[in-house]
Amino acid sequence: MVRSSFPTLLFMFFATFVFLAADAAVKNDEVIDVDAPVDVSKVKAPDCKQCMSTGTENCPDCKGSGVSFNVPVPCPICDGKKTFPCTKCDKDGMVKCGKCKTRKINGESVRSIPNPEWKEWNDKYFGKSRDKNTPKEPEKYIKCTYCDGTGKVKCEACGGTKKAPCSRCKGTGTVSGKGPCPACTGAGKVACSACCALDGIEELDSIKVLDKMKKDGLVSNAEYYKKRRLIVAQEKYRRSVIEERKKKKAEIEENKAKAEAEKAAAEQAVADKAAEREEAKDAAAKAVKDKHDSLLKAFGTKIFSPMEYEDKVRALGLSEKEVRDAEKRAAETDPRVKQLFDLKEKFREGRYDRAEYLELLKNL
Ligand SMILES: [Zn+2]
Ligand SMILES: [Zn+2]
Ligand SMILES: [Zn+2]
Ligand SMILES: [Zn+2]
Ligand SMILES: [Zn+2]
Repeated sequence: MVRSSFPTLLFMFFATFVFLAADAAVKNDEVIDVDAPVDVSKVKAPDCKQCMSTGTENCPDCKGSGVSFNVPVPCPICDGKKTFPCTKCDKDGMVKCGKCKTRKINGESVRSIPNPEWKEWNDKYFGKSRDKNTPKEPEKYIKCTYCDGTGKVKCEACGGTKKAPCSRCKGTGTVSGKGPCPACTGAGKVACSACCALDGIEELDSIKVLDKMKKDGLVSNAEYYKKRRLIVAQEKYRRSVIEERKKKKAEIEENKAKAEAEKAAAEQAVADKAAEREEAKDAAAKAVKDKHDSLLKAFGTKIFSPMEYEDKVRALGLSEKEVRDAEKRAAETDPRVKQLFDLKEKFREGRYDRAEYLELLKNL
């Protein structure tokens, strides 16, 4: 019988304590709803040194002037119309034909140019005696083929449209110049970067409503920035609460995982201890059996008398069956043990009464 020692009891107590504590942590069912609504009704906008709590400051881009010198503005030359009236042609988009002159052909005044055929004819036949086959001399001038005798051709500068692309803006209508600052749309003031600006704040419905009110002239500038300061402060608070919840949730999960590991370790330690005790028990039983075997050997070589042997065996605390099994085994190789075993068997069978048996045993 292996009894629990004091250290073993202490161990079991400690393991149970660890197990119960870990188990409680594992069963912690505190649920954190990260996205639950946050009450911001009591949040006030804090004082701001940067803007003296006005919520607005000078535009950093234009230093509060509202003016930028490098923004697209309507071209001052064409007034943004991209073109201006062509100066090279008349009102009808035509210019004087430069190829012809006014001449009289068959008594009629026409715009004409020298006839190329006449020069050819002249070169070919001049100075030679004319025969019947000499073709008739062509007209020296023909009607102008460039302006069809009208004296006017389409203006090349504007293609007859009378509108020339503006040379200053290259026909785009805009040039880079002095205009309203794009950062503050010319107001010179922007929201205070310390108390009135927050990443993503423009997406909030309340800000969209406020912006529209400002656009529609329903709030003054001062009111706008005052309200905006409050919305930003409330949004900052809301985000911090959600951040805090996320942290707490992660902490609980981490603790749970830790406790689960501790619980498993405690269970394992108890199992290990039990196995250790089982092993110790087996080792103790084996030691007793080994001792019995050596007693049988000693008995066989007559170191012990039968009575001494019986006394020593009794002291080992083995069961009746264990003793019999060991003796039966030893009897197979040891004649003296066989004598003892046979005697004991007969006694067990009731062939002798106790007095007879003891007498026979003493004389063995
Ligand atoms: Zn222009
Ligand atoms: Zn002409
Ligand atoms: Zn023109
Ligand atoms: Zn500006
Ligand atoms: Zn501020």
